[in-house]
Amino acid sequence: MRTPIIAGNWKLNKTIHEAVALIASLRCMVDGVSNVEIVVAPVFTALATSAEALAGGNIRLAAQDVFWEDNGAFTGEVSPRMLKDVGCDYVIIGHSERRQYFGETNENVNCKVKASHAHGLIPIICTGESLEQREAGRTEAVVKDHLLNGIAGLSAAQIISTVIAYEPVWAIGTGRNATPDQAQEVHALIRSLISDIYSDDVALKVRIQYGGSVKPDNAGALLAQPDVDGALVGTASWDAESFAQIIKAADNAF
Ligand code: PEP
Repeated sequence: MRTPIIAGNWKLNKTIHEAVALIASLRCMVDGVSNVEIVVAPVFTALATSAEALAGGNIRLAAQDVFWEDNGAFTGEVSPRMLKDVGCDYVIIGHSERRQYFGETNENVNCKVKASHAHGLIPIICTGESLEQREAGRTEAVVKDHLLNGIAGLSAAQIISTVIAYEPVWAIGTGRNATPDQAQEVHALIRSLISDIYSDDVALKVRIQYGGSVKPDNAGALLAQPDVDGALVGTASWDAESFAQIIKAADNAF
């Protein structure tokens, strides 16, 4: 079966000192959780110290972005090789904030996904429609566009070790989460699109996270949906207590 995955996207928050303090609190709270993959994604500057603070525990490290080249004249970028070197196992790619504020395209996402796999990093690929797109009935088309372009060219083994996040943009940081039915509908769509390209067997192994205002009080119902295999959590992951409650909700749901 699919191991549930709960990832915390810290976005542009937490100094090194704050990151270490948050990790220390979280480690105490989720120490006994063994059925859920737990991931945190600090800012680049806190990755090295976070890796040390996470050593020997059950929480894994992610970066919030990556570039696709190994090295060279690309000022300001960080490569997959460097992320592996600092201790990352995962990387978030194509978050809606990167698409919206930094001009990230599906093509960029695909290059980053392939480069990450080439270096043994697990990509968490974000997909999701804006409110305007949902209201125009374009949810399916937008998610399909993000997904199919993002995963283009991946082998079956690579897609199985890729995490897909469905994150409706209207639910991110707004306090307005998708209902469990809305989430399930899109997650089932994502799984059937993967099945069309690969096979049912492959699609059943791919983990699909929901993201968008996941909180301790709505996590259980979202995670109870058959195609929801975890959560990508923003705001509620910046506090150890609320993130731990979501992790425990996942531990109980699966
Ligand atoms: C996110 O940014 O990926 C996210 C889901 O944020 P929030 O939980 O704050 O909606």
